[in-house]
Amino acid sequence: MFGIKANIRIFSVLIVLFLLFSVSSIAKTVKVSISGTTENIHAFQEKNITYFSFSELADIIGGTMDWQIIGHEVSFREDTNKFMFVIGSPYFNRNDSTFNMTYPVKYENGQIFLPAETFIHFMDQVFYQKISWDKSTNTIRLDSEYFNVTDMAVSTKANGLLIEIFLTSALAYDVYVTEGNWINVTIRGGMLNIPQIQSRLDRRYMYNLKTYQQEGTAQISIRLKRKIKKWHHKLQNDPPRIQISIADINFEMEPQDSSPHIGPDKKIDVIVIDPGHGGIDYGAIGPHGTREKDVALRIAKDLAKLIRKDKQFKVIMTRDRDKTVSLQQRADIANNASCDLFLSIHANSSLKKYVRGWNVFFLAPAKNDSARAVAQFENSAFLRNQVRDNNYSSDPDNIEYENPILNILNEMIMTEFQAESQDLAMMVDRELRRKLNITARGVDQAGFFVLNKVYAPSVLVETGFISNKNEEKLLRSKKYQKEVANALYNAIKKFKAKYENQ
Ligand SMILES: [Zn+2]
Repeated sequence: MFGIKANIRIFSVLIVLFLLFSVSSIAKTVKVSISGTTENIHAFQEKNITYFSFSELADIIGGTMDWQIIGHEVSFREDTNKFMFVIGSPYFNRNDSTFNMTYPVKYENGQIFLPAETFIHFMDQVFYQKISWDKSTNTIRLDSEYFNVTDMAVSTKANGLLIEIFLTSALAYDVYVTEGNWINVTIRGGMLNIPQIQSRLDRRYMYNLKTYQQEGTAQISIRLKRKIKKWHHKLQNDPPRIQISIADINFEMEPQDSSPHIGPDKKIDVIVIDPGHGGIDYGAIGPHGTREKDVALRIAKDLAKLIRKDKQFKVIMTRDRDKTVSLQQRADIANNASCDLFLSIHANSSLKKYVRGWNVFFLAPAKNDSARAVAQFENSAFLRNQVRDNNYSSDPDNIEYENPILNILNEMIMTEFQAESQDLAMMVDRELRRKLNITARGVDQAGFFVLNKVYAPSVLVETGFISNKNEEKLLRSKKYQKEVANALYNAIKKFKAKYENQ
């Protein structure tokens, strides 16, 4: 008996010694190689897994780290990434999604340690730099050569402002202007040197400079202190760069104003009406062959007529006949007209023939599957173009979240007019309830491309289900079309009354 106890005791001591030994004496470092220089950070090994000090790596790569003692949580923010770790747990969050790195987060000497084998690989997918783990040389490599959008320069010329974005090689890009004097450059396959580009924020010419790095796309958005009237761009060689010149002979500064659109002395008078679909894009088709594009156009024309009679408004239609207009073109028409309010008119469709009613959408992440389904259908024209032109994800299930361009724009524009758009949607809802005798499905939110790119309060109205026999009949009738137009017109007037004299 005694002998066995003693053996157990000795064995226990050995285990404790072994554990102590295995943690402390193998403690060592890993190398971090970053643009030609190498630094050592603390690390240790456990069961053939290398744990490196994420606290020290964070110091090298930048970003901010916060500890929450309660819950043993550690958060790390770097650019658009926000990570949340819990000590002892293999799960972590990044921007509200949960991931599993198989091995738990460790805590040693006031620092957190992460498994290099499983975490670095993940980080590479979301980090703006190429980051890799090389077990054979025990090195975390940060590859700054990975940037292909390296720098930016802004200078004044005799006839205006010159913006240059420097690349390592020619890349496909797109430049567009949104209201509020934002000039936006989207670079396909671009990897931004964010600190370098951000350091070019020049308060003499800009109010704001934003950089967005997403997988497969990068965007630089600059809010200029001058009106963007005439501008053009080209790709130059030696060195490769995107040149954007903004012609402006009078170097006039705009007054500091960060609320660009609706304010006390801003008139709400330019109304853009967007009849959905058109031309080769029929939209939804009813059981008796009624086409959404035709219904949308008729209602839009009725509405335009009403608004035109009212001299306080100016009406612009994104199409006034059966014509193919891309979603981007619709947004361009609205933005070029400096639109104050944007209404997109559609008819809904469902495989379930009994589904009926109208509803009103404003732009925000979809809250439920049916709202997401509507957005997918209405966005499909955009997706088809994207899939044809580029190699973007064609999975319509994830349009709001996986399409990099949509993501970037969502972030930029959504918050700016979301409250007003929601308010406008409520007004439209109220007026439709008053006028129409069919099922009210109410106000909902979803990610619509066409609303997304319009720099003004905007809503999308699904005027009824064309897939439902009864509503198809209604949607064809002049009376119903006029009622819808009337309700929309009333909502526009209410919106003007509320926001113009606020
Ligand atoms: Zn539609």
